[in-house]
Amino acid sequence: MRKAPSRSSLLLTIGVCGAVVGFFLSIGVGVITARDAAVLPENAVSLPMSIAQVAGVPRQAGEAAGLTGAPKLSLMPVMAMGRWVEVPLGSRVAAVAGVVPPAGDLVDVEGAVLEAGAGMAGRYLLNGVECWGGALVHPSDAVDVVRGDDVVETIAVEARTVPQDLLFKGAGPFFALKNAGCPGVVEVRRGELTGEIFGTEEKVRPKPASVTRVRYRPREKKVVLTLDDGPSEKYTSAILDLLKAEGVRAVFFMLGRNVATRPALVKRMAAEGHELANHGYSHVLDETSSQADIKAEIERTSRAVKKAAGSPTVWFRPPGGVLTADILQAAQAAGHRVVLWDIDSEDWLAARDGLGAAAIVDSVLDPLPANGSVLLFHDGGGNRCLTVEALATVIRRLKAAGYGFCTLSELAGAAATYDYPS
Ligand SMILES: [Zn+2]
Repeated sequence: MRKAPSRSSLLLTIGVCGAVVGFFLSIGVGVITARDAAVLPENAVSLPMSIAQVAGVPRQAGEAAGLTGAPKLSLMPVMAMGRWVEVPLGSRVAAVAGVVPPAGDLVDVEGAVLEAGAGMAGRYLLNGVECWGGALVHPSDAVDVVRGDDVVETIAVEARTVPQDLLFKGAGPFFALKNAGCPGVVEVRRGELTGEIFGTEEKVRPKPASVTRVRYRPREKKVVLTLDDGPSEKYTSAILDLLKAEGVRAVFFMLGRNVATRPALVKRMAAEGHELANHGYSHVLDETSSQADIKAEIERTSRAVKKAAGSPTVWFRPPGGVLTADILQAAQAAGHRVVLWDIDSEDWLAARDGLGAAAIVDSVLDPLPANGSVLLFHDGGGNRCLTVEALATVIRRLKAAGYGFCTLSELAGAAATYDYPS
């Protein structure tokens, strides 16, 4: 029996014949247009030759298995992605699948996609068994891909401190911690990538701290001038000159870093009878500061003051007037008493908003301060020209109204009466 020609050899024969016919046509006509060339049989030669085209032609299972039609040389039937196809013998799994197995996604605990394709890698399957893309495919094998698993973002469980409330008793600018209470603790479940919080659980209920506030009333009408954020070369010098000329003593709440760089000014303050007080080292303390950090800031400043002027500090004013149980506790542990103020001159605000010195004077003297008031000014932390100017007026007018001036230690030590909660 005569053997049937293979498909490729048949097409090759047609192509060669076509080329010959085309050659004679070109001789006979002499000119071939582009449109004519497009229909010439030589185009048939390249049509069925690529493996992809061969592998991509779906066939009926029976036909692929060779039950009908002509025999297929070098091709084999396989089940690719759920369809019977013919592919060249020796094909590999990746080529037969024709797609890269899709990776899973990175998702949050609720299944929302955080990053597509960032999950587990997808997998090739050969007859239902995981394999690598280079595995050899045999006739009638089934090739498939499966999507990789999603990866759920890691949930970190962390304990967070909840600061306790402060319960104040009494009134006045002096603060003392009577009962530290205790901060609360909550356990927080947080997505490590999103930062999203998926649940909190109270572990320790916070207990409020009790704080006593005190005000001292001296026998004679007196106020305390306090100046924060210095010493600064220019403004502190000018203020010291003014105080000396007026015979007035004040309290300087200094930053340790300024003390360290201007020890001569600190020495002068002490020599002229002013009280040297503590405002922390670098004005960084706030509601979030730990007791250890607060204590370190206070002690470092106190050491700088002692080095410059011979005595450590005993009064502490937290930057920004921030009060927390930690600040009060740390100050006490560092041997300091905490004092804020009764009257804010708002000199910093006047400087910021371009107001005149009169605005500062009005803040302090309208109405006139109560006996024993602590007044807040700034000799550092910005342009303090207005403060120097206003302070001269404030001192003069207070003197005219019968006020004297003293330090905090004098106020607390020699007060005839004080407001103290029972
Ligand atoms: Zn300050």
